[in-house]
Amino acid sequence: MKCNKDGKTMKFIKGIKFNEYSIDGWKCSCGEIYYDPEQAQKVLLLNKLKKKC
Ligand SMILES: [Zn+2]
Repeated sequence: MKCNKDGKTMKFIKGIKFNEYSIDGWKCSCGEIYYDPEQAQKVLLLNKLKKKC
């Protein structure tokens, strides 16, 4: 996984805070974060369901 900003190789990190959940993703030394798309989608879906209830 490479950073969109500077092209550096990003570090894989487990349990990055995404909204109120923790998901896996990649982080660059410049601060850019790339979340696991599947897990991010799940969180966004859960948030949508929460709002409906
Ligand atoms: Zn970067």
